[in-house]
Amino acid sequence: MNKTIDDQIVNQLETIAGKENVLVNELDMEPYSHDETPGLRSFPEAVVKPTETEQISQILRLANEKTVPATPRGGGTGLSGGAVPLCGGLVVSLERMNKILDIDTNNSMATVQAGVINGELQREAEKLGLFYPVNPASMDSCTIGGNVAENCGGANAVRYGTTKDYVCGLEVILADGQIVRAGGKLVKNATDFSLIQLLLGSEGTLGIMNEITLRLVPLPEATVVLIIPFDDLSALSEIVREVFQTRIVLTMIEIMDRRTIKACQEFLDRKIPFDEARAHLLLRLDGKDRKELEGSFQAIGEICLNKGGLDVLVVEEISDQRKIWEVRQSIHEALVDKAHLLTDEDVVVPRTEITNLLSGVQEISKRHNLPVANFGHLGDGNIHVNFLREDLEEEVARKALTPALNELFRLAVSLGGKISGEHGVGLFKKPYFPLSVDKNYIKLMRGIKKVFDPSNILNPGKIFD
Ligand SMILES: Cc1cc2nc3c(=O)[nH]c(=O)nc-3n(C[C@H](O)[C@H](O)[C@H](O)COP(=O)(O)OP(=O)(O)OC[C@H]3O[C@@H](n4cnc5c(N)ncnc54)[C@H](O)[C@@H]3O)c2cc1C
Repeated sequence: MNKTIDDQIVNQLETIAGKENVLVNELDMEPYSHDETPGLRSFPEAVVKPTETEQISQILRLANEKTVPATPRGGGTGLSGGAVPLCGGLVVSLERMNKILDIDTNNSMATVQAGVINGELQREAEKLGLFYPVNPASMDSCTIGGNVAENCGGANAVRYGTTKDYVCGLEVILADGQIVRAGGKLVKNATDFSLIQLLLGSEGTLGIMNEITLRLVPLPEATVVLIIPFDDLSALSEIVREVFQTRIVLTMIEIMDRRTIKACQEFLDRKIPFDEARAHLLLRLDGKDRKELEGSFQAIGEICLNKGGLDVLVVEEISDQRKIWEVRQSIHEALVDKAHLLTDEDVVVPRTEITNLLSGVQEISKRHNLPVANFGHLGDGNIHVNFLREDLEEEVARKALTPALNELFRLAVSLGGKISGEHGVGLFKKPYFPLSVDKNYIKLMRGIKKVFDPSNILNPGKIFD
């Protein structure tokens, strides 16, 4: 890897951001050499942690002048290697741009700096009776800037949508240091090209998200969670179809298979009911009060029981619902710790293809003798397919992984889906990107990248070369 940062550039960075906000020591930079994607690592030459907008602008201007690669970083929870500084250079960490600037209850909008942790915004909004519903399982460590850059989703997406449905205003800093503002505290805007939608999911390759204005919704007054254990998974697509046909609006429809349940149980040292079932469905309903929800959860429970559900556990206490969310949040760590997770994928297909996806995944797993655990957002057709090493030799497992992944992504595309529903392409899925997007689309994306970042300094080597 070519060295791109010399002492003079380090001095200039220190002048811009302060000596205490520039790291060059390898030990200090270790946490910035990886995200949460298993097996990916690359060291930067320096890390800078700006505390003001003008500093970000000056840092990028300098990087652009000296052609230094600059990788933006939020919480480092990414699962596609987006924040890994593949070409060395500079990591621009937004961790100190972490202020909630304003929660405007009259307009139901929050304006935050990019480094604000998602869960913190949720808690602050809730105190005012408002709700930011995009709840990735990583919400206690990922940042709003990273969420925008990945167009992050969460378990509540069935009812509330994903990050793209909430960003109303965005201040972005371009590769040459220019500051551009789009939108505002506006629920409507037909005045310009929708730069915001273009930047959503751009994975740090087009600009650094700085200030973000997000729409908030009223905090639901009542929530009910249902846990439904299943042994026969062949009815899942049918259940989802019937549930949607009732016109009852669910907040989440999640699935956890037996391997996932067992790993969480061991990891948390906590008994999970019906742990021998092949899978659990996890459903949530939001409403005004229990009375409003009762008819809905009974109707949904009945559909599930008629289609092979073994039982319906109704969880009404908020403290019990929190415990369920703790289990859901622990899955990634549990699979890493208890099953030697090799990869956490997030393919997405039309809802109606869920059964075909899950049975195809089982066939791939058998064909390559590679254990698999599936969980995720059933109601969005977005399943986390986790290939595991378990007791296999590292070399044997790695050898099986490449063809298994290739077949997984081809399967998702053949079912009308995409290779990522929420984790992005980053570095890990770059080889498979052309499977999902046609040549003309990629040509258009390259053209857009050139307009935003002609010297290719922003997160080079991600999504496509
Ligand atoms: C346990 C666990 C559970 C998860 N659950 C979910 C889930 O339910 N739904 C989901 O969608 N994802 C999930 N993820 C993935 C991850 O949390 C999301 O992709 C999240 O949006 C990343 O945010 P971050 O701040 O950690 O970004 P990082 O990992 O730091 O960066 C991600 C990408 O965004 C870019 N970036 C970061 N900040 C900025 C910025 N300010 N401006 C421009 N680019 C920037 C980086 O360059 C990189 O390409 C999960 C991850 C883990 C480890």
